[in-house]
Amino acid sequence: MVSLFAACSPVTQPAPPLTPTRAPGPTPAPAPGWDDLAPYRAALRPAYAGDLDAFAAGTQYRIALSIADDLVSYTGAETVHYVNRATVPLDVVYFRLFPNARSYGGVLSLDTLRAGGAAVSPTFELHGSALRVALSAPLAPGASLDFDLAWTTRVPTSTVTAGYNQFGLHEGVLSLPNAFPLVAVYDDEGWNVEDAPGIGDAVYSETALYDVTVDTPAAAVFAATGTCAATEHGARRTWRCAGGPVRDFALMLSTRLAVETTTLDDVTINSYYLPEHVTVGKRAATDARNAVRAYERAFGAYPFAELDVVETHTTAGGIEYPGLVVIAADIYDDRRYAEGVIAHEVAHQWWYSLVGNDQVDDPWLDESLAQYSTIVYDEDVYGKATVQQENLVDELFGTRYRRVEGTDQDLRADLPVAAYTGSQYGAIVYGKAALFFDALRARMGDAEFGAFLRDYFTHNRYGVAHDADLLAALRPHIDPAALDELLRRWITTPTP
Ligand SMILES: [Zn+2]
Repeated sequence: MVSLFAACSPVTQPAPPLTPTRAPGPTPAPAPGWDDLAPYRAALRPAYAGDLDAFAAGTQYRIALSIADDLVSYTGAETVHYVNRATVPLDVVYFRLFPNARSYGGVLSLDTLRAGGAAVSPTFELHGSALRVALSAPLAPGASLDFDLAWTTRVPTSTVTAGYNQFGLHEGVLSLPNAFPLVAVYDDEGWNVEDAPGIGDAVYSETALYDVTVDTPAAAVFAATGTCAATEHGARRTWRCAGGPVRDFALMLSTRLAVETTTLDDVTINSYYLPEHVTVGKRAATDARNAVRAYERAFGAYPFAELDVVETHTTAGGIEYPGLVVIAADIYDDRRYAEGVIAHEVAHQWWYSLVGNDQVDDPWLDESLAQYSTIVYDEDVYGKATVQQENLVDELFGTRYRRVEGTDQDLRADLPVAAYTGSQYGAIVYGKAALFFDALRARMGDAEFGAFLRDYFTHNRYGVAHDADLLAALRPHIDPAALDELLRRWITTPTP
């Protein structure tokens, strides 16, 4: 995410109709065995098809959504083949219902909940954004259990006061990130279920396989995580999406969007843009392609067959999802600014989507690297000399950090999102923590710094990285005393 605006102008929306047009019920995807990986292959570039193998015995989602003609509601059904990857038996499994989070502003009503085929009474927590499912018998490590859920969701159609208008129908663009019950993460802290503070990103999830069917009005342009193919049924269209090994699934829909498509090797890159932003919207496809090329050179391969950049009316500058990033419509008025936001959001495909992290508790791990990656992008596209002449490190990160440096607002950079105010979060996580990577590079030299980034990416792709994993990737490339000094200077002080 790029948090650019502390507040936004309220947007007036027409009131939703009292009786929304109801779409036909979801169409379940064909149900091959859980060991059949064929539905997921289209998501990956052929050279990376083997990446699926590690997830053959992991969690899988089969989701069917049906979106109403007026885009203000949808019905959903899913089967989640959940595999207990913990080392202890689980007697409870948590799902997150993000549409019910205050920062999403929707209403998701659960109609069906079954565990192992047996009906279960749901228990809701955190204003309905968490679903606790008590199991009739403990789920042993390595064992699996299938959950069936069905629901109806009404989306917000006017500005949501918390968050970033990241969910719902805003000025004709329907944004549906995390639109389905998503299994929470069980780790050494137990179940990670917490109410996100309304700033920063809200989602923490693990990589799984996604086979998603979406029934939509035929007139709407559709963008989603993964690779999708459509079949027409008169006024409706059904999309079948291979999500591959990803930690989430997002889709966007609008009759107003146009698309510009380009390619980089065998990766298709789409920019979906609004008609008032044709020039920058078309250019966004090239910017995203240049970003993928720069990051593949610097960090490692993008394994997926597609990447989408979608213009929406979010009040964040941009937000990242696996295989799809959204960029705020306001940004498209300034071409150079839009380019920087696109470079940041595309970098999240490496830092967040592939190398995962707990975005609620460890936001610096993905945000500061996505920030620093924009320097990698600028050097690749415009040359190192230009980046130095224009003093971009200081312009992008130094000026942010100086808003709090030397004041009682300064804090260590490795805290949970909730520890910061909105302005501290921008200055410290996006400024100070990005300067840590610049300082590392200056100390290590370009070759060792580049080797560290490639090591960190290679060892943690598809997984979840913690601070210790970043440090483990650093240690072979830097003197321990120098690392300690730089950590103290940029990350671990001052303590609150
Ligand atoms: Zn970000």
